[in-house]
Amino acid sequence: MKFPKEINAFCPSCNAHQKHKVKAASKGRPRTLAAGNRAHKRSLTGHGSKRAGEKTVRKQGKRQKLVMTCSKCKKKQERVLRGRTTKKVEFKT
Ligand SMILES: [Zn+2]
Repeated sequence: MKFPKEINAFCPSCNAHQKHKVKAASKGRPRTLAAGNRAHKRSLTGHGSKRAGEKTVRKQGKRQKLVMTCSKCKKKQERVLRGRTTKKVEFKT
């Protein structure tokens, strides 16, 4: 999927439309000691019946998240592209 490198989008801190630079959001390194990860690990112990978090269905495509940086105030906004896309986001010049 193709997406422009620069778009005119609304900036809440400028309270106006400004030019934004667009980048794909990157997922950070997972923290093994985060509260949710510890709770999930606890739920997997023992002889549980149904286990939450075990995937049975593989979803097609990925939800693409973009990070837009305002060219005026340099603040960042996030935007999720519609539904799921099967191909990676490419940024046109
Ligand atoms: Zn701004």
